[in-house]
Amino acid sequence: MKREKLAILGSTGSIGVQTLDIVRENPDRFEIITLTANRNWEQLAHQAIEFDVDSVVIADEQFYTPLKEALAHTDIKVFAGEHSVEESVCNSQVDTVVNALVGYAGMIPTVRAIEYGKKVALANKESLVVAGEMIMPLAIERKTPILPIDSEHSAIFQCLMGEQSPLRRLIITCSGGAFRDFPREALDSVTPEQALKHPLWSMGAKITIDSATLVNKGFEVIEAHHLFGVGADQISVILHPEAIIHSMVEFEDGALKAQLGTPDMHMPISLALMFPERAVRPTERFNFTDHPTLTFREVDRVKYPALDIAYDCLRRKGTAACTMNGANEVAVAAFLNHKCAYNDIVRAIEFALEKATFVAKPTLEDYAKSNEESRVLAQEFLKL
Ligand code: NDP
Repeated sequence: MKREKLAILGSTGSIGVQTLDIVRENPDRFEIITLTANRNWEQLAHQAIEFDVDSVVIADEQFYTPLKEALAHTDIKVFAGEHSVEESVCNSQVDTVVNALVGYAGMIPTVRAIEYGKKVALANKESLVVAGEMIMPLAIERKTPILPIDSEHSAIFQCLMGEQSPLRRLIITCSGGAFRDFPREALDSVTPEQALKHPLWSMGAKITIDSATLVNKGFEVIEAHHLFGVGADQISVILHPEAIIHSMVEFEDGALKAQLGTPDMHMPISLALMFPERAVRPTERFNFTDHPTLTFREVDRVKYPALDIAYDCLRRKGTAACTMNGANEVAVAAFLNHKCAYNDIVRAIEFALEKATFVAKPTLEDYAKSNEESRVLAQEFLKL
């Protein structure tokens, strides 16, 4: 069988590393052409040698020299800079792009991958949050499949397999993040260290904070809208602390389909890579008696204002969600560096949304400007 040739963007991150596990388990199926990282040149060099890749890209140019030196004894090509990350997806050898970048930085590579007709295995939800209105029609026009890696969207994708009839509602489950059991008043003084302790998932720092604020859940609502063509009013979110049901679909006859499993990103990653086939992972066995109780409750919309802000951005369309995303990225970084309080994250988003220029039908250039403006506004609000 011809091996599928991959470009893995963000291979040193949480999703990137787990994608490499899947490749390691399936050496006859995949071959890696390119790996990319931002600054972590040592891990990137290590991965490049293990998988004998054709090329690597380090986005932050100051790490080009140590990376080049670390790979000097190999014939692996070394590139640096954001532009080279974008170019790596256009490589004619590549069949599939795994976009495991974090943040706005992942959006243009998604667009380029689609333009060049590559299958996209998409973890970078910010691509669709920022520019879903442009990306989805482009993917349809170029007949490029976008396969979701996000566990909720993978669950919905699986629930929709083989279905022809219209659906009533998508139900996205939410574990509630690090502060699920904290009273609202306690959130004034929580620290990044506390926020980084997600009860169930081990993920990169930014998405872990987004999970605590529920910005992540709001982004998933927007992502679901774009991926599945379902309106905001037909997408609901339910708190499900055990995180065993990864999401559900309700049909017009009242039937519900849910996808269940232990919280482990290897499953959605492998499905995105192998669809329509599934990976063979004999050690994955779900034990029902270990999970005798599955519970559900409504999300406290006062404690988690970010969820309604995201719904609002989805309804407003245009550059609204791009503004939310940019302000959030700045505020999350500031919170992680102890430069603002936890509650300032949502305040910075609200400030940016109030002041930002709104473009109803944005071009790529408009998204770039909107992203820039939202960052400046968040910095102004947080006095950075
Ligand atoms: P991580 O922070 O763990 O990894 C991000 C990766 O992107 C790293 O390889 C990092 O390189 C690289 N990177 C960061 N910034 C840039 C940049 N400006 N330019 C180029 N490369 C960059 O993130 P996650 O793996 O947790 O998340 C990746 C995406 O997947 C996010 O969009 C997230 O929302 C989504 N996702 C993640 C899940 C998870 O379980 N982690 C679950 C569902 C979705 P370096 O290591 O050098 O910093």
